[in-house]
Amino acid sequence: MKINLATSAGFCFGVRRAINIAMDTARNNKPVFMLGDIVHNEEVVRQIQKAGIKKIYRLTAGRRERILLIRAHGCSRDTLQKAKKLGYSVIDATCPMVKEIHAIAKKLENKGFKIIVIGDKSHDEVKGIVGQLKTKAVVIDKPENIPLKKISSIGKAGVVLQSTQNLEKVQKIFDILRANIGKVRFHNTICKPTRAKQNEIKVLPLKNEVVIVIGSKSSANTKRIYEISKSLNDKSYWVNSSREIKRSWLDTVKNVGITAGASTPESTIREVIRKIKSYSCA
Ligand code: SF4
Repeated sequence: MKINLATSAGFCFGVRRAINIAMDTARNNKPVFMLGDIVHNEEVVRQIQKAGIKKIYRLTAGRRERILLIRAHGCSRDTLQKAKKLGYSVIDATCPMVKEIHAIAKKLENKGFKIIVIGDKSHDEVKGIVGQLKTKAVVIDKPENIPLKKISSIGKAGVVLQSTQNLEKVQKIFDILRANIGKVRFHNTICKPTRAKQNEIKVLPLKNEVVIVIGSKSSANTKRIYEISKSLNDKSYWVNSSREIKRSWLDTVKNVGITAGASTPESTIREVIRKIKSYSCA
């Protein structure tokens, strides 16, 4: 069985950077905390916690010197201000590409544009983008959820995208916005690693009998990669680790494509490959 691994599989630049920052920070003698998970992957979170960084769900007052690590997805201005007020030293591991989205949104807002974010309302990155602004942004996740009445009253809108969005889906939303708002300024803020992954997954399922997408079920970008793959090849499977692979998926298969979300560690990818190889050798 031939195994074709996507060149874009696994950690993106922003995740790798955030993990390196976290590990460096953990070597510090002060207690280090992070609000939620550093990235959406259980194995990475386990490693970070093993290094001594504690996960918390809210900021608290304290007398000891402490460090708050800001995750790759970023956070709102309020969170940052609150952390400083409560005495945390802040180490910012926000991905520079997410920071770029913050900067674009703030600039557009200062120029009088109403900000529209295309992305998942509940995702930390979107909360972080919205939380940079002085005015309330409109967040749209899919065409059928566009608040038509509300957007029709907007004079000029500045549109930014969650970095891991799918451009085809975004295009449908954008067409509706353009038809209903006088002036729309659009910034394609899908990051480069996401584009590379999405381009590869348009080909991988067509060239392989089976596709295995590796990543946590909590990872939004893995979910999107899987959805694209599944729409092109019904024999697409989404696994979090090698343990979830079923031998029956690969019976009589001559080639298998493998890809992985931006927060999937290389060790997990290697384990999956090892397991698949063990089937073909058996
Ligand atoms: S997916 Fe893109 S924006 Fe998100 S951390 Fe990776 S490089 Fe940064």
